[in-house]
Amino acid sequence: MAGRNFLFVPGPTNVPDRIQRAMMVSMEDHRSPRFPQLTQTIMAGLREVFRTQSGTPFIFPSSGTGCWEAALTNTLSPGDKVLAARFGQFSHLWIDMCERLGLDVQIVDCEWGTGVPLQQFEDILKADTRHQIKAVLACQNETATGVSSDIAGVREALDEAAHPALLFVDCVSSLGCIDFRFDDWGIDMAVSGSQKGFMLPAGLGILCASPKALAMYPSSKLKRAYFDLPDMIQSNATGYFPYTPALTLMYGLIESLKMISEEGLDNVIARHHYLAEGVRAAVTQGWQLKLCAKEQRWHSDTVSAVMLPEGIAGTEVIARAYHRYNLSLGGGLSKVAGKLFRIGHLGDMNEIHLMAAINGAEMAMLDCGVKVQPGSGAAAAGHYWRTHEAPSGLCAMPKPQEAQSNTPRSSPALTTR
Ligand SMILES: *Cc1c(COP(=O)(O)O)cnc(C)c1O
Repeated sequence: MAGRNFLFVPGPTNVPDRIQRAMMVSMEDHRSPRFPQLTQTIMAGLREVFRTQSGTPFIFPSSGTGCWEAALTNTLSPGDKVLAARFGQFSHLWIDMCERLGLDVQIVDCEWGTGVPLQQFEDILKADTRHQIKAVLACQNETATGVSSDIAGVREALDEAAHPALLFVDCVSSLGCIDFRFDDWGIDMAVSGSQKGFMLPAGLGILCASPKALAMYPSSKLKRAYFDLPDMIQSNATGYFPYTPALTLMYGLIESLKMISEEGLDNVIARHHYLAEGVRAAVTQGWQLKLCAKEQRWHSDTVSAVMLPEGIAGTEVIARAYHRYNLSLGGGLSKVAGKLFRIGHLGDMNEIHLMAAINGAEMAMLDCGVKVQPGSGAAAAGHYWRTHEAPSGLCAMPKPQEAQSNTPRSSPALTTR
């Protein structure tokens, strides 16, 4: 098939050429004297992205789901009560894991399209005067519905109730894309993975644990083996791993961390917001369709879930986009299956790249009988992007004085502006 496949599922995301090249390495001995340097580079870089000084980052050869398990089993005991809200497939799956592990989950069911209910959490925590709730779980970015929640607000709810429960956050589809502050928000366990904001293939579970979370280990009675944190801590202390690490992904992660640091984490976050705003303009102003996210405060900067009109099968739109236009859109999961499609706009992305998704989704919708105005998506997104300043990290017009002078500067080595 000519041309490329355009990948817009909200994970795995597009792997930049730089990262692909960085991963083309011969295998090495993971007990070599050189290995600790790799580990140390990665851990230092992860601390920056988690924005933590006190937290300990971990990488596991697993997907993000593995670190959900690591967070729970290293801190809690069977029958422990945890508080969690369910408003999409990922928040649901983490709760399901808790139940399978024998935890007692106090579930707050919320409408899909909304996020963590802060007031309700605060009320529940205040009422729990005997402090039976041991951990509060929050999914920062519900990838199934394109909903972001206010994690600083969850911390405030805990503080308002003066409640000592641990705070566990799923940031799989938000870390390195949406503002995330491990230390400032008093997070105890943050769970992520390689194939979303880090722009890598799947295969690394990424975790960060607070000293308070790590102190729970001796008293926690859930069974663990592969995901045992003290085993990791002991090996990582000298730069090694208790079992064979995913070497190629580690090289990829070093390159990814380098790219994030070159662009600047704040700029990466600003770029995700700017790109997401363009997509939202296409959806709501151009196509006149609704997002699954009910209100602006829930809008996700990494994925937009687009509600289709009644009578249109989302699966057909997605199949049409894939088979006819070689465009991969995300489908609706569980409760919203068939009702929506999702555009992932995270990771290695710019305006024109996103135009492919907007135009391709629009063509597929028109083919499937959705009455949108042809060209309206691109017009609205383009209008947004042309009238708002692009964050650095995206192409920008050269400054006037730079544009005028074509002569190379005398010392090329010093011209990194
Ligand atoms: C992708 C995702 C996960 C699951 O990660 P895997 O790497 O597929 O195990 C968990 N939570 C959220 C919010 C996600 O987007």
